[in-house]
Amino acid sequence: MAALSDQADRAMRDGARFLTRDAPDHEIPDDPMPPVEAMRLIEEELILDGIPERNLATFVTTWMPPEAQQIIAGNLHRNFIDHAEYPQTAEIEQRCIRMLAKLFNAPGETTGARTQGSSEAIMLGALSLKWNWRKRREAAGKSVDRPNLVFGGDVHVVWEKFCRYFDVEPRIVPLHPEKYTIGPADVEPHVDENTIGVAAVLGTTFTGHADDIRGINDLLVTLKHDKGLDVPLHVDAASGGFVWPFLYPDSEWDFRLGQVRSINVSGHKFGLVYPGIGWLIFRERADLAEDLVFYENYLGKTDATFTLNFSTGSAMVLAQYFNLIRFGRAGYRHVMQIMQENTRLLAARLAETGQFIEVGADEEKLPLVAFRLAEPRSFDEFDIAWQVSAERGWMLPAYTMPPKADHVKMLRALVKLNLSHALVNTLAQDIAAACETLERKGGAHESERAKIRTNVGY
Ligand SMILES: *Cc1c(COP(=O)(O)O)cnc(C)c1O
Repeated sequence: MAALSDQADRAMRDGARFLTRDAPDHEIPDDPMPPVEAMRLIEEELILDGIPERNLATFVTTWMPPEAQQIIAGNLHRNFIDHAEYPQTAEIEQRCIRMLAKLFNAPGETTGARTQGSSEAIMLGALSLKWNWRKRREAAGKSVDRPNLVFGGDVHVVWEKFCRYFDVEPRIVPLHPEKYTIGPADVEPHVDENTIGVAAVLGTTFTGHADDIRGINDLLVTLKHDKGLDVPLHVDAASGGFVWPFLYPDSEWDFRLGQVRSINVSGHKFGLVYPGIGWLIFRERADLAEDLVFYENYLGKTDATFTLNFSTGSAMVLAQYFNLIRFGRAGYRHVMQIMQENTRLLAARLAETGQFIEVGADEEKLPLVAFRLAEPRSFDEFDIAWQVSAERGWMLPAYTMPPKADHVKMLRALVKLNLSHALVNTLAQDIAAACETLERKGGAHESERAKIRTNVGY
């Protein structure tokens, strides 16, 4: 066989050398590789990641239309914090904040911030609660060494993180064995003069329902009048903030309630933007503790910064603005209604199997079905999650509920826009088929169970 010329040899190998080598994984390689080769190496590895359309666990957006992708790809160079160079990007952030404040029924002029997600928004919002509490206490000549924050066991992990990172006592209200959200009677015993705030959830990670925010607000109003305790309420609307205004516009959970002083929402969940974008909205300017705002002029213009990060991308801010103006209220409503309709279809299909009970079917909730086995079987919810993944590749999370309801195992399927009517039918059949397999083999094998990932999704 004729040897390849050097040039042909190089041409053959170009972009293919990675096929016969390990991926660099400990050290930066000594020598460069052609860009196409690096790209292919990464692409081949990513094949092992999940298929987003089959992921029923995540709340986060996995698809945006080509026009949005164009906006994102074209603006990756834009450093969000550099307001001197990109003043119009900063203006667009402010437009988003004003639109969201309006959506959440803020009574007048407000303020807020773009964040990396709800986690950063919650850290900043809760810091503001802490600083405002301290100011009130100092003004009254009282001690400031034992702040606490009250929230239910149904919150996202970020609330416990905040308490540990920023040295605040978490007062976690346990759930009831048969009720997976909290209300005023649960909160009341935990509130005292050292309470920096109460956090309530709109759309819990566990079942998609809302805490009794109106009831908790009423309790806090009463405490203010009867005991002079002015305890602010923060609503964690990470998922619900883009759902409730469109599906349940008459339900009051936002700034229509007087003690609600701040709200966070994840743009990258039902705001329908790719990660990471979140929003923190204050009821009024005074709710943002002024001490937390820093002024710097490194970048050629004096700017106020109120973030945990400094440099970060702008693309998702622009993508959020794109969605807000492209969908409009009617568009978001339409999208939410489609998801809700398909959620109901999935619930009905699962009910028809006679094997499951849905949790809180008739309550206001996120577009998801939280369900569990109607009666004890030779297999459990974790086995179903394993089997349906093995048979059809669906990522259907199984998890146990938080304390005092932790004897309950749950399955949960998000019904996002990509889960069409036809796919919902298929999914329900696949879940029923997985149960049949498990019935035949008497549950998942130990070795299979060990592989079950137990996260509740994000
Ligand atoms: C997802 C979620 C969070 C965290 O939000 P990120 O945007 O992922 O940082 C906080 N609270 C609730 C209720 C959530 O669903």
